[in-house]
Amino acid sequence: MIGQGTWNVPVRGAAADDAKRALRRGIELGMVHVDTAEMYGDGASERLIGEAIRDLPREQLFLVSKVLPSNATFEGTTAACERSLRNLGVEYLDCYLLHWRGEVPLGETMRALEQLVADGKIRALGVSNFDVGDLEEGRRALERERIACNQVLYHLGERSTEAHEFAYCREHGIAIVGYTPFGRGDWSDAPGARVVGRIAKARGVSAHAVILAFLTRDPIAFTIPKASNAAHVEENARGDMRLDAAEIAAIAEAFPVRRRRGGIPTL
Ligand code: NAP
Repeated sequence: MIGQGTWNVPVRGAAADDAKRALRRGIELGMVHVDTAEMYGDGASERLIGEAIRDLPREQLFLVSKVLPSNATFEGTTAACERSLRNLGVEYLDCYLLHWRGEVPLGETMRALEQLVADGKIRALGVSNFDVGDLEEGRRALERERIACNQVLYHLGERSTEAHEFAYCREHGIAIVGYTPFGRGDWSDAPGARVVGRIAKARGVSAHAVILAFLTRDPIAFTIPKASNAAHVEENARGDMRLDAAEIAAIAEAFPVRRRRGGIPTL
C-alpha cells in the first residue's frame, strides 16, 4: 500500500499550488493514505492538505497525523489532536500517532489516544519510531484499543527493521509504515542501483516505482513517499505492482539487511 508523505511540502506560492495538485493527483490514483504531523511546518503542512482535500469525500481519504512527544500529556494530546483537526478541516483522523517516544510516560499518552478513539476524534491509534521494547510497553499500556501501526525509517539502505520490528509487528497485527523510502537519494550512488535500474527498464517504470514495490512486498508494509510534483506522484503510483521472486531476491542481495546494535534508526 503506497500513501503520500508531506514533510517539507512547500506551503507558499506557486510551489504550494503544485504540491496541492500533486496530492490530489495521488489521491485520484489511489494513494489516499496521506501522512502529516503537527510538527511539519508547525501545522502548515496540515493546512495545505486541508486546502487540497476540501471538496473531496472524507470517507475516501485515510488521514494520519502525529502528536509531538513534548505535547503528549493527556491534555496536551487532546489539544494537539483538536488543532490538527482544525488545520485539516476534518472531523476525525483515520489514525493518530505518537511521533516518537519522549519524556511523558507512555501510559498517559496511550490513555489520551484511547479517549480520542472513544470520543470519535480518531479512528485508530499508532506510534512512530518504536522498537520492539517500546511496542511491547505501548501495547501493555492500552486497555481497549490496539496499536494499528508503527511508522519507521525504511528504505533500501536501511532495512534493519526487517530483522527487528517486522516479526513482532506481524505477530501483533501492527502495520509497518515505512518513511523516507528513497533514503535521501543515497540508493542511487550504491552499487545495487544498477539492479534497480535494470528491473525498472525491463518493466518500463521508474526506479522509484521499483523501490516502492520492493518496500511494500510484505503485506504488513506500507510506504509514504513525499512528492510535491505530479509527475513524481504518477511514477510513485506505479509502484503498486508485485515484483517476482527473482526481482525481489536481486534487490535484497544488492541492498542487504543489516542487524543493528543500538536503538531504532531515525532521521
Ligand atoms: P522521501 O519520500 O523518501 O523523499 C522525498 C523526496 O523524493 C522529495 O525530494 C521528492 O521530490 C523526491 N521524489 C519523490 N518521488 C520521486 C520520484 N518519483 N522521482 C524522483 N524524485 C522523487 O522522504 P521523506 O519526505 O523524508 O519521507 C516520506 C514521508 O515520511 C515524509 O514526507 C513524512 O510524511 C514521513 N516521515 C515520517 C517521519 C517520522 O519520524 N515518523 C520521519 C520522516 C518522514 P519532490 O517533492 O520534488 O517531488
